[in-house]
Amino acid sequence: MEFIDDLVTIYDLVTHAKKGGKRVGVVPTMGALHDGHLSLVRNAKQHCDFVVVTIFVNPTQFGEGEDLNQYPRPIENDLELLRKLDVDVAFCPKNSEMYPDGFSTYVQPPRISRPLEGTFRKSHFQGVATIVLKLFHLVPADEAFFGQKDYQQTLVVRRMVEDLNVPIKTVVCPIHREADGLAMSSRNVYLNDKNRSRATIINHILCEIESKIFNGDLEFEKLVTEGRAKLAEQVDSIDYLQIVDSETLLMPNSDTSKVVALAAVHIGGTRLIDNRIISLP
Ligand code: AMP
Repeated sequence: MEFIDDLVTIYDLVTHAKKGGKRVGVVPTMGALHDGHLSLVRNAKQHCDFVVVTIFVNPTQFGEGEDLNQYPRPIENDLELLRKLDVDVAFCPKNSEMYPDGFSTYVQPPRISRPLEGTFRKSHFQGVATIVLKLFHLVPADEAFFGQKDYQQTLVVRRMVEDLNVPIKTVVCPIHREADGLAMSSRNVYLNDKNRSRATIINHILCEIESKIFNGDLEFEKLVTEGRAKLAEQVDSIDYLQIVDSETLLMPNSDTSKVVALAAVHIGGTRLIDNRIISLP
């Protein structure tokens, strides 16, 4: 595996691989890799001949008072995990090269970025859209792999790729969970034992909503009210628990065939998100 931090070198390597007939996959991450990230890498290895994993803790997607400085950065361990999976390149650009002095151009993210996360993390998706587009320019891959874990992010990226004619196919991979159902996240390391066990309520509530819908209960407002009340017993605060159309993130209507139940909560100072896509019966 090659370790590359230089912007020109990565571009040359990827374009060279493509000219040689290789199908290139990219997996953008912020590092602190866990099995969720690695499932994306495995997926990329299955679809592509040349896989680049990017590791970059992107400052512009963190808001004031968020965990940019504490965000875990176990780079040696990350590289070891990627070596074991036989990844071709780990691309770990420097902050000073991605955001040099005078940097002031940002992608205005699509409308789908506004509800849910957009309400609670104001410039988050502007930062995400900007870094993803920059990475797509530096690593002009054929396919890019994202996790359903960040559901709204997948919609934002897909819309941006379409709107800005980016020649890359986005692939969304399922959520990888711990044995007790908690969605894997680099932020789970912040949880002490007590908070770690409280956190299982998130998936529990989403599963309960899923099974009720599966059994024909389509009173979404009631489901959400009940779910919020149960969540509130375990978590410190709830940013949102919503059931929305999986394409538009608006209230489900007669055209809706799939909904997504999404939650964002705070437990012991850690913000956790999760979701489940649910086909309507
Ligand atoms: P992050 O490092 O948190 O920015 O995540 C990098 C990519 O990994 C994003 O596309 C995430 O959605 C994805 N990801 C994070 N956690 C999981 C998980 N538990 N299962 C599947 N994909 C995940």
